[in-house]
Formats: sequence, C-alpha cells, structure tokens
Amino acid sequence: MDLLDKLAILTDAAKYDAACTSSGVRRGFQPGKIGNTSSSIAGCCHSFSSDGRCITLLKVLMTNSCVYDCKYCVNRRSNETRRAVFTPKELADLTIGFYRRNYIEGLFLSSGVLRNPDYTTEQMIRCLRILRHDYAFNGYIHAKAIPGTAPELVYQLGLLADRLSVNIELPSEAGLQTLAPDKNKTAILRPMTQIRDQVVQSKAELVKYKHAPSFAPAGQSTQLIVGATGDSDRHILHLTQSLYQRYHLKRVFYSAYVPVVENALLPSLDTKPPLLREHRLYQADWLLRFYGFRAEELLTEAQPDFNPFIDPKCNWAICHLEQFPVEIMRADYEMLLRVPGIGPLSARRIVSARRMTRLSYEDLKKMGVVLKRAQFFITCGGKVRSGLRFSPSTLVSQLESIERGELPEPGPVQLSLFDNAG
Ligand code: SF4
Repeated sequence: MDLLDKLAILTDAAKYDAACTSSGVRRGFQPGKIGNTSSSIAGCCHSFSSDGRCITLLKVLMTNSCVYDCKYCVNRRSNETRRAVFTPKELADLTIGFYRRNYIEGLFLSSGVLRNPDYTTEQMIRCLRILRHDYAFNGYIHAKAIPGTAPELVYQLGLLADRLSVNIELPSEAGLQTLAPDKNKTAILRPMTQIRDQVVQSKAELVKYKHAPSFAPAGQSTQLIVGATGDSDRHILHLTQSLYQRYHLKRVFYSAYVPVVENALLPSLDTKPPLLREHRLYQADWLLRFYGFRAEELLTEAQPDFNPFIDPKCNWAICHLEQFPVEIMRADYEMLLRVPGIGPLSARRIVSARRMTRLSYEDLKKMGVVLKRAQFFITCGGKVRSGLRFSPSTLVSQLESIERGELPEPGPVQLSLFDNAG
C-alpha cells in the first residue's frame, strides 16, 4: 500500500474525533527550529471540512487497526474495513512535508490500539521524537493518550506534545460496559490524573528552572459522544463540571453520535446525528467556564435535557423570571453575565461605562449587547425598551423565533412581563 492510500484511510478514520483545537499555547520562533504555535488561533477547529475550508492540523491516526471492539466505532476489530499503519518515520515525514508546504500548522495524532496500548504509544512517541528532535519541529502537536498505557510512556508522550487528551467517549460506566467492553473507568481516569499532576509539576519546575522539561503545556482535553447512549444532558453536564474541577481539563468536546454500524444497542443507521443537542451542550459548557453557572442550575431532575430550540442561558432565564428584569445601571457584574445577550466583554464594558454616564439602549447595542435577546430581561435607566411587547406566555415562542432567525411574532397579549418596570 502506498503512502497516499495510507493517508486517505487514516485521515478518514480520524474524522470522528472532535477533540482538536490548538488553543492554549504560545511558542514563538526559535533559531534552528521549524514552526511555532500561536495562542491567537485559540478556539479554531483544525480539521478537513467537506467544503474545502483550510485546515491547520493534520488530523490522522497512527493506525486504524484496533484490538478493541467498541461497538460504536468504525475501527473496531470486528468491522470489515481497509486497515493501514504508518511507520513512525512515514508519518513524521508527511507532517514535516505538509508543514513546509504550508498545508498545516501542526499535528493531531490519535490511534487505534495496535497490539496493546503500550506498543501503540511507543509508535506515537517514535514519530513525535523524529519530528521534534530530528526535524526540529516546533509546531503544535496534540496527541491521544490511550487508556491503559504505562505511566512512563504517558510521561514521554507529554514531553513531546503540547496537549494530551484521553477520550472518555461514553458518559456513563454502564455505557462503557455495554458498548466498549475493553475499556473501563479506572483505565481512563488514571492517565487523566497523571496528566493533571504532571502539568502542575512541570509548570512549577519551569518557574524555578528555565530549562526544565515542559510537559503538555496546553493541558489536557477529552471527548464525550452524545446520543449513542440514553444519558441525559444533565448527566453529561454534571460529568463535564466534575472533569473541569477534578482534572483541570482545558476543554471537553462533544461529538454528536454518527451511526456507522447496525447494532441493537445503538441508534439505527437512519438516525440523524444530534447536532443541535451537541450545540446546546457546547453553549452550556461555555456557561460553566465563563459565566459562573453551575450544572445544577441549568438542568434539573424535572428538566434533564435542554430545550433544543432555545439556548441554555435563555432557558435558565425563562425558568428564573423572578430574578428579572435586571437594571443595567445597578446590577453587579455577575448578574449582568446572567442576562441573555450579555457576554463577559459587554458586561465589563457596561460596568466601566456606567460610572461615567447614563446608558441608553443604543449605547448597549454599541457595546456588543445582543439586544434582541437581552431586551426581554433588562431595564435601562428604569425603562423597558420602547416598543417591546411580550408576556410570559409569548416569551418562549418569541425567543424560539429569534433563535430561528425569524422576527418575533407579536404576542396576542400586549403586556409587559414586568409590571414594575417603568
Ligand atoms: S479503542 Fe475503541 S474507539 Fe478507539 S479505535 Fe479502538 S475500537 Fe475505536
């Protein structure tokens, strides 16, 4: 099999992995080395897209051969598919060749389990050593740590990569047992604990010793599959919250399950991937990380899943109307952040600008407040936005219309939601 065939097979097999961004690390040009990493591209997703948009990471598997048999995966051992394996040198040559041609800015390297986790990781380490040491490649590398790999090998991998990730994939232990019987919770959490501790240790050593080895400076991430099992959004969000707290993850990625195999335990092949659900989870994840929300505030036992037609912040606000309207001239920063349509930047601008002047709705617009959402939940100088018509019974449908990009229908009851709102 020639190299291009291998590349076609192993990039295609990597497309189900969502967990790749090159955010979180800045490393400038260094004399004698090739490439750099830039934190200015934080949050960009780097992958091949079907419409041909530019990708910046070569996202590829070392091999799609796998001794495991995860039922949801195209690479599982019982699936009949073309298999390929890169040698470490082949993959290193391809990566540096693509880099020199300006096709990519870095490498996202994952793998099926060839023979066993240790052997596979050794192959990945060899490839990364050639890149880093022989070719002096200084660009971004994101590598997968395979559950079950010996700690010493995880350490070696972390010395070569900017970011490591251990994919949890299935959000519950029951899901793992039924759909990925070769994996278990302990084997997944052990390397996550090790990576967390060694990142902290490495940062502390770098403060003391300038030339101390740097271990996974961009931290670790993971991926959860959404929709392959019956786990609710609430369950997934609680898991996410605990991963951020306990393992200091930089990102949790959500991947809508794409049915690729017929199996009674999985959604049927004609099930559409739950992309909107995935999107709502990303929005909720954002609320946990940057808006001070807790998982238990966003979803409850009575409402375990997000309304797909309204973003999670609007959903929360609708369920807590007693906390609104928020007066823009007086509300503290934390409360401003809870208003739909107001983000951290616009909240900071409001807090700073209102010290100098009385703000108007026009001013809020200029500060980046998304008024079409915020207008329902704020007063500005004691006044509701002029011309605003809505009532509790029409609010949900109005917000849903806004979400669909339609103009909100005027509600049948032309009332203000807030009787005392001026
Ligand atoms: S370990 Fe499971 S998910 Fe990973 S490649 Fe093998 S079969 Fe697929």
